[in-house]
Amino acid sequence: MIDYYQVLGLTPAASAEDIKKAYRDLALNFHPDKNPTDQNAHTHFQLISEAYTILSNPKTRSEFDQERESAKAAEQVATTVESLPQAKKKKKSTPAKRKSISLPTWFGFSNRGQRRQPTRRQHRSRARRRQQSWWNLSSPPRPVELPPEPTEGEDLHREIEITIQDIAKGVRKTVPIEYEDVCHHCVGSGSQHRAEPRRCNRCDGLGTVQNLQGDYEVKEPCPSCLGKGMLIDHLCRQCFGKGAIEQKRQIAINIQPGVQDSTILKIANHGKSGLHGGENGDLYLTIRQAVDERFSRQGDDLTCEIDLDFIDAVLGAKVKIDTLDDTLDLMVPPGVQPGQILPVPRHGLPKSNGEVGRGDLFVKVRVLLPDEVTHRQRKLLVQFYDSPNMPIKTE
Ligand SMILES: [Zn+2]
Ligand SMILES: [Zn+2]
Repeated sequence: MIDYYQVLGLTPAASAEDIKKAYRDLALNFHPDKNPTDQNAHTHFQLISEAYTILSNPKTRSEFDQERESAKAAEQVATTVESLPQAKKKKKSTPAKRKSISLPTWFGFSNRGQRRQPTRRQHRSRARRRQQSWWNLSSPPRPVELPPEPTEGEDLHREIEITIQDIAKGVRKTVPIEYEDVCHHCVGSGSQHRAEPRRCNRCDGLGTVQNLQGDYEVKEPCPSCLGKGMLIDHLCRQCFGKGAIEQKRQIAINIQPGVQDSTILKIANHGKSGLHGGENGDLYLTIRQAVDERFSRQGDDLTCEIDLDFIDAVLGAKVKIDTLDDTLDLMVPPGVQPGQILPVPRHGLPKSNGEVGRGDLFVKVRVLLPDEVTHRQRKLLVQFYDSPNMPIKTE
């Protein structure tokens, strides 16, 4: 915990007058108006004000005195334990950890390491975490009130499935987007008055309290803050303290003909909201091509299959095939082989990447053989087999 007496350069014996004087002197030095660009001065000033608020009120001062005494007692126990011979080595290797005061000397850092003055970057990332939802905090943020920095909104990523027919012609799609956005009313703080969550007094922001169970001290979640370490005094009426609200939106997009599978469309500014003048995030839509029963796709080309009677395969035939847009007659040459591919030019998909024209359609021939034949058919086949070009020679 922070020693507010140290913050003001005083001892617990200080009178109300001492406290007022010390605060006045320090506040004058660190006032933000005097140090407009110094972030540290802002933080110091905040801490000095915090100390003064606590110590100038007899009720909060006596509460703080009690907390301070019990923290000191706990620290003495810890020191005794660490002074035992087996703990000596550990103590030597981390001497700084035992120090309860670090620079600046009057600042009174806690050796728990969670009240350390944040760097600008740490502050920003903490601010971001707070905006997401203070309720998720793993460690309580420092209650400083620096001017809020613009924060960019998060990007959203969604997928959209379209058919091969949509790809052939291009399509306009309406995509429902649901997401959890930062609550604009409380700018993610969860507080009706946009106040920072305050440190829970009961657990000193730790989220846990120690209880005696028989001979053992047991850590349990703090019952006041439910283990969060922080409390919000007036919950935001829009988000009820969550700091976030559900958003539902419909986005209409035009998908160009010939779009490739896995193409990512960027819809600028349609992600989560930015804060304090920061830009909104973007929405990224990944196009997924639905599996088609008839056509498989290779770039701009398509492949389909047709079944052909073995007689037609041998003699050649005119067969009707369904392409993407119409039905056409395909001339199958005599002697077509199973698995042979017959091209139908310009019946594939529209070319993408700025090229004009269309890809091709490739028709793969499946040859069907009869699984039983009549007596007459059998006779004819035997006759056929006896002809001079039989049996079939393969090279
Ligand atoms: Zn608590
Ligand atoms: Zn809210």
